Amino acid sequence: MEIKLFINGQFIDSSDKIIKTSIDPSNGMEVAKYHVPSAKDIDEAVAAAHKAFYNPEWKNMSQDARADLLLNISEKIKERAKEIVDVEIRDSGSTLRKAKADVHNTAAFFKVMSKVARELKLNVKDEAASRAGFSINSREYTPVGVCAQIIPWNFPLVMAGWKIGPVLATGCTTVLKSAEETPASASILAEIIRDAGVPAGVVNIITGGADVGRALLNHPQIRKVAFTGSTQVGSEILKAIATNIKTATMELGGKSANIVLNDADLSIAVDGALYAFLYHSGQACDSGTRLLVQEEIYPEFMDQFLKRIKEVKVAPTTDPSAGYGPVVSEKQMKTILGFIEITKLENGKLLYGGSRLTEGEFSKGFFIEPTAFEITPAHTIFQEEIFGPVVGITKFKTEAEAVILANNSKYGLAGAVWSKDHAKALKIAGQLEAGTVWINEYHLLNPGMPFGGFKESGLGREMGSEGVMSYLEVRHVWESDCDLRSQKVWFDAIF
Ligand code: NAD
Repeated sequence: MEIKLFINGQFIDSSDKIIKTSIDPSNGMEVAKYHVPSAKDIDEAVAAAHKAFYNPEWKNMSQDARADLLLNISEKIKERAKEIVDVEIRDSGSTLRKAKADVHNTAAFFKVMSKVARELKLNVKDEAASRAGFSINSREYTPVGVCAQIIPWNFPLVMAGWKIGPVLATGCTTVLKSAEETPASASILAEIIRDAGVPAGVVNIITGGADVGRALLNHPQIRKVAFTGSTQVGSEILKAIATNIKTATMELGGKSANIVLNDADLSIAVDGALYAFLYHSGQACDSGTRLLVQEEIYPEFMDQFLKRIKEVKVAPTTDPSAGYGPVVSEKQMKTILGFIEITKLENGKLLYGGSRLTEGEFSKGFFIEPTAFEITPAHTIFQEEIFGPVVGITKFKTEAEAVILANNSKYGLAGAVWSKDHAKALKIAGQLEAGTVWINEYHLLNPGMPFGGFKESGLGREMGSEGVMSYLEVRHVWESDCDLRSQKVWFDAIF
């Protein structure tokens, strides 16, 4: 597969002829050659997005027409589902089941965005703020402008969808940069967007590493930055865009607490806890990597947990029954193994796993065993995001202690509580400093609801009405309802 730059509705070569390779993390084999944009190409992409933003065909398009485009994209994703799944498995190390879910969820997301676009109220009179004979006040919502959108490698298609959906719903335009590890599915999405009839230049898609991201962000015509990635890079980006006050949404890292209470139903809590930290090899920002288990239930919980962890099937992603596959790259694997070593050196109690898998079918890929440590808040991995199949388990006595432990983190992306007593679980949920809290559930997201982080897990929200509103500027329009000069006594302040 050859992945070109998608700029102004065309697939073009890198003007510097820089071409790199993305590989299958299950076996190191080439998946795609991708063109890396030069500074000139990035300028052209932003110029195309800028021109498209003011193109009357796009600027004056009705919300119904935008909604139809979004629905069209949703349908076309479904039509090309098999092709996308095949490439996503190889490009990102997703299992068959995860890749299928990603495609399904992205198509569903565009459908939800279509409904949102149709129902968006872009001009709202505020009766309460208005007074007869004085003023009529309205809020007018208008697209923020050209966006720079930067996504990570863990959910390549889903992340591209979450970014592009609200752009199209609101009348913005974008240059989206996919991660260099996983450029493939975003490129297919570019074809779909073109074929769905989105005007040229509205969506531009390029790929590359940090340098490409930096060059894109600093462009003066970019008005909004939407970033998903690590907290460290998010912080760097916020510093960079402070110079020209660009608006930003940031979906950053996490170290989510997964709280199992004494009265939890273990027939779901054990599997839920494993799913929470092992889905996609633990490479999900909302992974439940701090497992907090109440003391009384701890022995029984751990007994079942250690039985079930053995049944999780790690396998190359060519195996349709793989529970999880490789981590995305050698670099990521080394980072994860580094955290495992640190925890061993800090005398974290290794309960399961702890090594790379290297034999037979694993020999050419980046596979790590499911790994569980018993830890305390003093251990590095209680605080640091690993982004791999590793959980730290900590005992607690009281519910109050669970809340203190859960909030003992610079992150605040997600969390969960497992209990048969929903009232009790809801009370704990209300005390967690996290943007999403599940009760007896994990990882499931609802496109109609906001997703994002407290504290260093982010700024603003994606999805839900909050996510869409972040692509709109609001204008207060004051209509005078008193048109006689004699009524406007405030003018007299200067006479
Ligand atoms: P990363 O921050 O290294 O990279 C993310 C993206 O930013 C990539 O496209 C990368 O090329 C680009 N980039 C890197 N440095 C940049 C710079 N200085 N300027 C501009 N762009 C730059 O993260 P990653 O390793 O790709 O992804 C893993 C991280 O993403 C984890 O911390 C995870 O928690 C986070 N994540 C968060 C969410 C969420 O919704 N909160 C979702 C997925 C991943």
